[in-house]
Amino acid sequence: MTSASRVGGDRIALKTLVGPNGDAHVYEPKPADAIALAGADVVLTNGLELEGFLDRLITASATEADIIILTDGIEPREEPGGGHYHFIDGQAIFHAGAYDPHARQSVANAKIYVENIVGAFCAADADGCEAYTANAERYLGELDALHTEIIERVAALPEDRRTVVVSHNAFGYFEGEYGIHFLSPQGVSTESEASAADVGGLIREIRDQNAGAIFSENIADTRLIEQIATEAGLPISDVLYSDALSGPDGAAPSYIAMMHHNAQAITTGLAAN
Ligand SMILES: [Zn+2]
Ligand SMILES: [Zn+2]
Repeated sequence: MTSASRVGGDRIALKTLVGPNGDAHVYEPKPADAIALAGADVVLTNGLELEGFLDRLITASATEADIIILTDGIEPREEPGGGHYHFIDGQAIFHAGAYDPHARQSVANAKIYVENIVGAFCAADADGCEAYTANAERYLGELDALHTEIIERVAALPEDRRTVVVSHNAFGYFEGEYGIHFLSPQGVSTESEASAADVGGLIREIRDQNAGAIFSENIADTRLIEQIATEAGLPISDVLYSDALSGPDGAAPSYIAMMHHNAQAITTGLAAN
C-alpha cells in the first residue's frame, strides 16, 4: 500500500504508473497512462529527476491536474558526481541529476512527502480534508515509530561494522539519516571492457572499509552484484527494496514494510558476517 492510499483511504481512486518492482528509469509509458493522467485531479511525482519519462507524458496528456512534487520541502542531497550509475544488461547507464532523487529512503523525508500529499488532497477535495488529515496523523505516528526502530537497530551494531555494498547508489539519504555507509559500483569510461563497472575499484573499497554485507536489489539484475560478492568473498545477504515496492505477497508491499525490511536485512546481514 502506498503512502497516497494511506492518506486518501477510500475517498481516492489511485492509479500507479510504475508499479511493484517497476523501474522508473526504464519505464515506457503506455497509452492508458496518458488517459489516466488526463482524467486525474492530482498527479503525485517524486521529482528530482527520478521519473525521466513523466514530463513529456504530462504534456502529451494535456492534463489539468495539480502536479505535486513530493520532495518539495526536503533538503536535497547533492550528487557529487552529477548523477549515479545503474547497471543494466552489463551496461553502465549514467542517471544524470544534480540531486539524489531517492529522498524517501529517509523516514524523516517520507513524513514531508505525507504532508505534501495531505496538502494536495485537501486542495483538490476540501470535503475530504478532515478525513485526509486524520488518516495522515495516524500514518505519521507509525512513521515516527519506524524511524525510532531503525535508529535503535543501527545503534546496536558496533561502530566499525556499518558499511555495506549495494548495486546502485540509492541509499544516500538512508546513510545521512541512520549512519549506515553504502558502497556501490561506479561506471568506467572505457566501453570496450567486458563489464562496464569498475569492479576492481569497488573490491579495494570493500577491503579498505571492511564492508560487512552485500545486497541485491529488487529493481536491478543480479549478475553484477553476484560477481562483486564472489570477488569480495562475501555472500549476498538479502534483497533490498530501493526504488519500488514489492507486490502484495512480497517483503515490501508498503512503504513501512519496505523500510522495516531494509533496516532488518542490513542490520542482520552486518551482525551475521
Ligand atoms: Zn537512478
Ligand atoms: Zn534509483
